[in-house]
Amino acid sequence: MPTQPILGILGGGQLAQMLALAAIPLGISCHIYEPDPHAPARLCAVHHCATYDDFTALQAFADAVDVITYEFENVPVACVAFLAARKPVAPGAMALRICQDRLLEKEFATQLGYATAPFIALSDALSSADAVAAVGLPAILKTRRMGYDGKGQQTIHSTAELDAARAHYIGHELILEGYVPFTYEVSIIAARDQFGTIIRYPLVQNMHRDGILRRSTAPAPCSTAALEANAHLMSSRILSAFAYVGILTIECFVIDTPHGPTLVINEFAPRVHNSGHWSIEGSSTSQFENHVRAVTGLAVREPIMRGVAVMLNLIGNEPEDSAVPAGVAIHRYHKTPRPGRKVGHLTVVAPHNSDCSVLVEACTNLPGTYV
Ligand code: AMP
Repeated sequence: MPTQPILGILGGGQLAQMLALAAIPLGISCHIYEPDPHAPARLCAVHHCATYDDFTALQAFADAVDVITYEFENVPVACVAFLAARKPVAPGAMALRICQDRLLEKEFATQLGYATAPFIALSDALSSADAVAAVGLPAILKTRRMGYDGKGQQTIHSTAELDAARAHYIGHELILEGYVPFTYEVSIIAARDQFGTIIRYPLVQNMHRDGILRRSTAPAPCSTAALEANAHLMSSRILSAFAYVGILTIECFVIDTPHGPTLVINEFAPRVHNSGHWSIEGSSTSQFENHVRAVTGLAVREPIMRGVAVMLNLIGNEPEDSAVPAGVAIHRYHKTPRPGRKVGHLTVVAPHNSDCSVLVEACTNLPGTYV
């Protein structure tokens, strides 16, 4: 790897934008491969504007960069296979294959001995009654692939409802999950570099509405020393099992048990994650910097927290600059607002919970921050 490598990123959304911005101070420049001519990351990276099945453009992209990563896990397998034959791609093929498929993810987690929601693959031969009997009600029907932000899923209250929903999703591979009666949702964000060193951010507590992340708080207010220790062991085992390079996010439910709060794995994201955006201002080394470091062959750095951090997504709308209180960082993604679309985020960092809450409260009536 050259001392100042050129990083190729598949996808050109806000995650690619923040990766490219983190790469610049490390002496690394970025190219993005993204079909959308208006993609947010075009402002800070060289843009290869072509579709993921354009192998001539993919060849030119591979020729222009030294190493390749991705900002979304649903990148077509044939595209990644083509690129991986030409340049190193990180995170690697095994992690990508498993994280693209909710069924494989749950099987992988279960094989390592971790709890997940009860689940069953909906093959044509399996009746809805048998599927419901296996996971219980209420249940959640999900497409195995391509779902994000609550898309491609539906809550199921009866066998008849499942029958109707399956008809709606004909042509998709489906999974039925039992509903997890969680008290909180958290994410574990960890990175492993090419030397096998693993770093982890404190547990992040996440608040969703309509399946979309609205707010993340780090360290998670619900966390305990035991939960942090379990998160630490879990992320280390999973990163090592994947021989992973880069940031991995593990989204978990926290359920109350007689033995105390327990982590139940929901899903993996083999990339930087919305619930880690606070780390730009809230820690010494952001998730974006650590991902760039890992995939380009640099050592990852232990993130030192700068206080309590809260990230509020701006969804469907964004405030005027003058409305954002002093002390609050704003990130705009240069996207046209429309309902349900993430167009930016705000981050508040303060030494103590109470100072943080005051600033967060001052942001909660701003356009886009509705929770
Ligand atoms: P996902 O796309 O799987 O991350 O789901 C989006 C959100 O839906 C999660 O963050 C949860 O709030 C909720 N959810 C998904 N699956 C389940 C489940 N099995 N039990 C309870 N809530 C769930």
